[in-house]
Amino acid sequence: MRCPFCGNVDTQVKDSRPAEDHVAIRRRRFCPACGGRFTTYERVQLRDLVVIKSNGRREDFDRQKLERSIRIALQKRPVEPERMDQMISGIVRRLESLGDTDIPSGTIGEIVMESLARIDTVAYVRFASVYKNFQAADDFDKFVSELRPHAAKEDE
Ligand SMILES: [Zn+2]
Repeated sequence: MRCPFCGNVDTQVKDSRPAEDHVAIRRRRFCPACGGRFTTYERVQLRDLVVIKSNGRREDFDRQKLERSIRIALQKRPVEPERMDQMISGIVRRLESLGDTDIPSGTIGEIVMESLARIDTVAYVRFASVYKNFQAADDFDKFVSELRPHAAKEDE
């Protein structure tokens, strides 16, 4: 696993333990080159999912990107981290069970909004309001950066 800080590919696993009620394995890693520490999660992936953007471009589905956007939407909301992890796992399982490994980006947005609406209305509104612009931009990184200041503003 490549070190996210210095790019060294020779990192060491210091600790492995079950996480999320044995759905995942959490590994603490150490980079001997720069001293950096980071965490990785190993999960069962039933199928390799591909996101189809509205401009037709294909991109491997990235759970961490999904997690980032949901984490920002839920910032400072009274939702337990375990609850959030369960929700994200639930979303991924739904995506995996859609019957097609190619998933339009809009479908992911709809499922995320549905799930957020069920656990926290404020987070749902945050996500949904930014999601409208996101559909035009269709760029997940831009989406996350737009979501961030919006979420921060509501916390003031
Ligand atoms: Zn390093």
